[in-house]
Amino acid sequence: MTINRARDIIERGAVLVDGDRIAAVGEAGDLERRHPGAQRIDASSRTVIPGLINTHTHLIQTLLKGLGDDKPLYAWIKEMTLPASVQATEEDCYAAALHGALEAIHSGTTTVVDFTYVNHRPGLSEAIVRGLGDAGVRAIVARGLVTQGADLGVPPAMIETTDHALAECERLIKAHNRPDSRVQVGMSPCILWMVDEPTLRETRRLADRVGGIITIHLSETTFEVEQALKRYGRRELEVMDGVGFLGGDVLAVHCTKCTPRDIRVMKALDVKVSHNPCSNMYLASGIAPIPEMLLAGVTVGLATDGPASNNNQNMLHVLKFGALLHKVAREDATVVTAEKILEMATIDGARAIGREHDLGSLEPGKKADIAIMAFDNPYVAPVHNPVSALVYAALGNEAETVLIDGKIVMRARRVTTVDEVSVRERAQAAAEALAQRSGVAHLARRRWRSTGY
Ligand SMILES: [Zn+2]
Repeated sequence: MTINRARDIIERGAVLVDGDRIAAVGEAGDLERRHPGAQRIDASSRTVIPGLINTHTHLIQTLLKGLGDDKPLYAWIKEMTLPASVQATEEDCYAAALHGALEAIHSGTTTVVDFTYVNHRPGLSEAIVRGLGDAGVRAIVARGLVTQGADLGVPPAMIETTDHALAECERLIKAHNRPDSRVQVGMSPCILWMVDEPTLRETRRLADRVGGIITIHLSETTFEVEQALKRYGRRELEVMDGVGFLGGDVLAVHCTKCTPRDIRVMKALDVKVSHNPCSNMYLASGIAPIPEMLLAGVTVGLATDGPASNNNQNMLHVLKFGALLHKVAREDATVVTAEKILEMATIDGARAIGREHDLGSLEPGKKADIAIMAFDNPYVAPVHNPVSALVYAALGNEAETVLIDGKIVMRARRVTTVDEVSVRERAQAAAEALAQRSGVAHLARRRWRSTGY
């Protein structure tokens, strides 16, 4: 399944990899004849796809799975996510990143954008970089910026000065963003009510000077829209546009409350969108106007969001939920097809992070980020159409072998880069200790009220 411009699906195909790049894609017999000495990975009866791209997550929340269930977003942030996040240590970030990388690889995801909003002590964003790097996934770690919000429940320890936060961003970008580095760094002003206008302006200036993508939560909930109206008398996107923040390197996350006017501005300024359907449903945030965005020609990538609002990092679930959400919302089964949602998780996701030249499809010259999917399980078989099988039937354990940067990171469903059992044990220990330390452990033992039956 090439997802090239013609969307070719080659029945008996092969992909030739040379170093970290794809050298050729074509008929298996033909490639074998021309490259008899090549080392072979047998993918017969398998479906080979470009690795999926997860355009938004917060991997530190790996340690908070299931603690924020059934809460409205603002309560979820104020009562659980922020009080726990602000207790995170370097070890927590590293353990969470390793575990998040395992979840990604097992679902055939090869690129992850982490929105790293925890920076209350030095070294946390770097621990995420290190964890993703050690596990062998491709990533953009977008270093967070939080410069206000104490009046709305942001723990003071999370709030930094603009100068300090941007100096850290610059240092990390310069340290990690070499043309071929697998883990790169970007910037993530958290959300409009947690950053001030000068921070947005200075973030834009820094991005123009040193590069790195910018990602920001946008119009996720009614609360956020109301805060912008109260503080600025304008909608969030207008505030951002007003300070010259927006551009083709901005990835706006959620956008559930975006208006037709917002969509026109996004198209005009080439702002990209990260769609997080599972999280939007989980937190009851709303339904993003994705069909309107697609119609307007806005680039939309797909994402899991953090594990505390999903509660996993399985992109195959997001494919299915994403397509189904818009069908039921419009009572129109044609509105987002299997093919379109898969594009959002591959080539459109690559475009959303400015990497369409080397990610998102199986084409010569692109990075060898490849997932080999096995559909011989009771849920997926029998298969008529591989796109349908992947989007609507697969459960998330179908990835068998995964290559990133031309290296095998999983073979026969065993991750090769790290020891999976110790990563899981390490994450469990870190999760329990963090919940205790931050006073949210009781949320795991909430009462199950009987209905009397
Ligand atoms: Zn988020």
